[in-house]
Amino acid sequence: VMVFVAAGCSKDTGSSTNSSGSKVAKDIKDIKIGVSVGTLKQERWQREIDMFKTYAKDKGFQVLVQSAEDDAQKQVSQCENLINQGIDVLVIQSINADAAAPIVNAAHEAKIPVVSYDRFIMNADLDYYITFDSVKVGEVEAKFVVEKAPKGNYIWLKGGPEDNNAHLVAQGQRNVLQPYIDKGDIKIILEQWCKGWDPNEALKHVENGLTAAQNNVQGIIASNDGTAGGAIQAMAAQGLAGKVPIAGQDADLAACQRIVEGIQTGTVYKPIAKLNQVAMDVAVALATGKDAKTAVDSKLGQWTKLNNKTKDVDSFSVDVIAIDKNNIDEILIKQDKFQKVEEVYKN
Ligand code: BGC
Repeated sequence: VMVFVAAGCSKDTGSSTNSSGSKVAKDIKDIKIGVSVGTLKQERWQREIDMFKTYAKDKGFQVLVQSAEDDAQKQVSQCENLINQGIDVLVIQSINADAAAPIVNAAHEAKIPVVSYDRFIMNADLDYYITFDSVKVGEVEAKFVVEKAPKGNYIWLKGGPEDNNAHLVAQGQRNVLQPYIDKGDIKIILEQWCKGWDPNEALKHVENGLTAAQNNVQGIIASNDGTAGGAIQAMAAQGLAGKVPIAGQDADLAACQRIVEGIQTGTVYKPIAKLNQVAMDVAVALATGKDAKTAVDSKLGQWTKLNNKTKDVDSFSVDVIAIDKNNIDEILIKQDKFQKVEEVYKN
């Protein structure tokens, strides 16, 4: 059982509450935002840490960033530490959707609002959730594959079961796959979670699936670019890379390189710069006693309500974009400058 230091620490920074219990205005220069990042495994997260820091530097306030290296208990104690340092708002990208719930309670005891970043914290009285539509991510990933292989044997790789996003992505994939499965056109010969979104797990599952089916596999559903990379490695060992459609998400550099090489069908690009900006705009609004909803530029996405089994949480959803070799130059490289042309086409 984790023991949290009692409430009241945030008062050290001069934050105070009015009679209705909400924070009173505080100057942006005086605020302190805590950010807890659970995993850094995928390349996106390091970029997002840099974005948090740049935003804070530009606006002249302090941001404290902690990274828990895939250890859910470490994330709990790091957040406890951030709370003790008198942060005004806590932003969390959680490792484990349920294990993070006590963090929300501890923050609230110290009158610190919590913003769930990209990954939903379940079973907790969360304040805000800033995310992409993960169901849509899964739908786009599966569509890439079924368009190329409307019939055949499929291997289905889901993400980390500890992450709620993995379940939403899988739900989106199922939305697309189910009619084909019902018709008997697509047969799932292997369906597995990849714990911690680990590419090595994906590699092993695909090795097993290919062996069991004697390489008679027409499609692979993967849930992100990292695990797609593991799957493609296993396929390459059997001379199947580029012959079996597969897609991912995140537009990681390695995935972009595979797309232009023709060994990965597509990826779902999630504009993390927008996500990051929205999360920080909300955090700053909360810390300075302003309205969080109107602080966000409505051009960046939509406000909605998402249920985390405790409540309907005010959530902001940023749109995602399907990327393949036909639009990678135009959208990803030229328009959004998310990857550099010389790097994507390096090989
Ligand atoms: C994110 C993905 C990411 C995965 C592994 C998910 O929660 O939404 O973008 O690839 O975690 O870090």
